[in-house]
Amino acid sequence: MKKLVLIGGGHSHAIALKQLGINPLSNVELTLISDVIQTPYSGMLPGYIAGFYSFDQCHIDLPSLAEFAQAKLYIDSAIGLDLAKNQVICKNNAPIPFDILSIDIGSTPKTSTIPGAIKYTIPVKPISQFLQYWDQLIQEIKQNPQEKIRLAIVGGGAGGVELALNIHSHLMQIYQQFNQPLNQLELHLIHSGNRLLSERLSQKVETILRNRDIHVHLNQTVNQIEQNQVKIISCTSGLTLECDRIFWVTQASASPWVQETGLTTDQRGFILVNHYLQSISHPQVFAAGDIATMVNYPRPKAGGFAVRQGQPLFENLKQSLQEKPLKPFIPQKEFLILIGTGDKKAIASKGGLNLGPNSLFWRWKDYIDQKFMKQF
Ligand SMILES: Cc1cc2nc3c(=O)[nH]c(=O)nc-3n(C[C@H](O)[C@H](O)[C@H](O)COP(=O)(O)OP(=O)(O)OC[C@H]3O[C@@H](n4cnc5c(N)ncnc54)[C@H](O)[C@@H]3O)c2cc1C
Repeated sequence: MKKLVLIGGGHSHAIALKQLGINPLSNVELTLISDVIQTPYSGMLPGYIAGFYSFDQCHIDLPSLAEFAQAKLYIDSAIGLDLAKNQVICKNNAPIPFDILSIDIGSTPKTSTIPGAIKYTIPVKPISQFLQYWDQLIQEIKQNPQEKIRLAIVGGGAGGVELALNIHSHLMQIYQQFNQPLNQLELHLIHSGNRLLSERLSQKVETILRNRDIHVHLNQTVNQIEQNQVKIISCTSGLTLECDRIFWVTQASASPWVQETGLTTDQRGFILVNHYLQSISHPQVFAAGDIATMVNYPRPKAGGFAVRQGQPLFENLKQSLQEKPLKPFIPQKEFLILIGTGDKKAIASKGGLNLGPNSLFWRWKDYIDQKFMKQF
């Protein structure tokens, strides 16, 4: 009996597990290690923050999926690997042995180097923790809607922009519901680059943000966060901002334990994999989603890419267990991006073309996302 162990219930593993349920492998013992019971689907997260979806609508229930795939489920955190003995080291359980291992544990925003960032800000990942915090904040605002609130988002990538638009949307709904003035919210988006998102999208997105009175600060590098009565963000330019809460959505980085495993990683700590999604240093290990960087086909860290890796990952885990030749996977260079703007509208972008925002694209995005979730 061969042992296949999956760490993390990310997007690629969710698809691989579904396929393993439909096509069970004989003589294979399957194990999933996940630190959460319900794993989020990134495409619908912004909609959850805006208040358009319930928690269940945008989360995959891992115990049900594991049962379908006939996998043993450990709710635990992997904290290391013993690659000489082929074992996963867990926080709470005894080491779990494997013949073939697959890792899909996502990424976390980079915080470590800036004084005060870890102590005084709320990272958006792990998402499960961030969502708990967000739900709590919504309850607090509903209890005291007459109180002004100043929020800041550090990081103007796709995650930061979507967060700003959807936080704004949800809080506006609350202020309207409680007959409060809409300027109760002061929202800042701080970004170190000179534009948001790609060149072709920046103008459009900045206009939308500014039309909603979201303060966009470009070319601003945060170098310190302090806390007195309020939180104070300082930037290298001399800009300081006082805020009540700060959300941290900077560039993705890898969990530090991954770098200590002996697996070959890139400079940011992501596992380097070949076009079979197999570690370039340890052939018994596969990786997909944000935690993996394909050596010859690097792509942005996005849920869309993680989803697309699910099927080829499943194929190659199967081939590897059956000692058959692996199948190459070459990810698309460009694909359609639908960005929700928090008002049940979306922008569609592909290649040099970007259209919207309009409600037709939102309905299209909603259809694709709901269809994805229905399979679980
Ligand atoms: C605010 C925000 C909005 C975003 N919106 C979008 C969007 O609209 N579209 C898009 O494509 N991307 C979006 N992204 C990016 C997207 O979230 C990630 O690219 C995507 O989640 C990566 O998927 P994954 O499968 O690699 O990992 P994840 O989805 O992060 O899943 C990893 C899983 O592994 C678990 N795990 C982690 N560590 C361990 C461990 N040590 N042991 C066991 N289990 C572990 C986690 O709990 C989680 O369940 C957004 C990101 C943010 C922050």
